[in-house]
Amino acid sequence: MSEKELRVAGFANDSIVDGPGIRYAIFTQGCHHDCTGCHNPETHDVGGGFVVTTEELWAPIAKNPLLDGVTLSGGEPLLQPEPLLDMARRCHGKGLDVWLYTGFLFEQVLAGVLGAAARELITEVDVVVDGPFIEGGRSLELAWRGSSNQRIIDVPASLEAGHVVELA
Ligand code: SF4
Repeated sequence: MSEKELRVAGFANDSIVDGPGIRYAIFTQGCHHDCTGCHNPETHDVGGGFVVTTEELWAPIAKNPLLDGVTLSGGEPLLQPEPLLDMARRCHGKGLDVWLYTGFLFEQVLAGVLGAAARELITEVDVVVDGPFIEGGRSLELAWRGSSNQRIIDVPASLEAGHVVELA
């Protein structure tokens, strides 16, 4: 796998449940968190799914004028930060906002526990929804997150404040 390739489980062309507005959602393949009650166990195998290039990923996004943003979800997107950093930068160049879902905590990634590329990715995106899915905190009334422990983090505001700032 090169930095221009991503192993994915699939895509959603016009999602309205993975963040605000109409979004292109990329579901990456591979996850080690093993959250009890995970709704996407088929995304766990790091050798599963299929491989696409960043050019192939970008093509349907670039030609869709209806999109408000792009969501990087999984699986665990931070296992493959390099191609997703490329995607996030392309999205920003087109005026699209970028949301990222991760089972890690924002502070962990910011501290560099997953390496420099993951840290760079998490500071590039606009919003991070962080933390593992916890079945006991599940509620269908929660918008954009699966369980109540997960935070919807305004990344630029958090970086400026020096602490986590959640979206209201
Ligand atoms: S982080 Fe997401 S994909 Fe991974 S086990 Fe937890 S709920 Fe499932």
